[in-house]
Amino acid sequence: MEREVKLFLELLENTQEAVAFTGAGISTESGIPDYRSPGTGLWEKMDQSVVSLSGFLRNPANYYSYAMESYPVRAAAEPNAAHYALARLEKKGWLKGVITQNVDGLHTKAGSENVFELHGSLRRVLCLECREYYPMEGTMSRVAGGENPPLCSQCGGILKPDAVFFGEPLPEEPWEKSIDLVSNSEVLIIMGSSLLVAPASGLPRLALSKGATLVIINLMETPFDDEADIVIREKIGEFFEETGV
Ligand code: ZN
Repeated sequence: MEREVKLFLELLENTQEAVAFTGAGISTESGIPDYRSPGTGLWEKMDQSVVSLSGFLRNPANYYSYAMESYPVRAAAEPNAAHYALARLEKKGWLKGVITQNVDGLHTKAGSENVFELHGSLRRVLCLECREYYPMEGTMSRVAGGENPPLCSQCGGILKPDAVFFGEPLPEEPWEKSIDLVSNSEVLIIMGSSLLVAPASGLPRLALSKGATLVIINLMETPFDDEADIVIREKIGEFFEETGV
């Protein structure tokens, strides 16, 4: 790992205006299972229709019953060394923001301020009628108390987690801001994403077309490894601990 740490520290020294893009792999060290990893992937264990928009609308109580099982693990998850390192790099002015596919809210919990959640967040719910937001925590307490499905206290509408379900489009605003950010950055660091899923896979392509330096930190190979300037095949938290940033 020594060589990779040295390359990364040189990059910190010699460049400005970096942006990070993170996927599930950054949160596995926080105890949140990867959605697609064979054997442990969440999607393998559950019926996908539960987290599709049509399945949710048909039976929201079924979704909340399922969600109660994984909620304690999610609620207790803490940021790891990688989340904290990104927050520190932002405070130092080197990192301009974090674009994430994750819905766990751990970047914000670690102190990152400029966070773009491409798939929304499981830290809050949204009323499908009046668009009011509520914290997930209080909502799940109500479910635990027998109120299933939980309803909006303003209008009685159904409350849906503010994460993108199957069959839903990605929210436009974070995506557009992400494109702006990547277009204007010297460095794009990709962490814990297989880069197999569009549209996120378009971000490294965009960075390369602008002549940016591409860094990939991921345990598995990605389709962009050959074009990246630095490829680091380590656990992300462990890597950042080694860098001391
Ligand atoms: Zn409402």
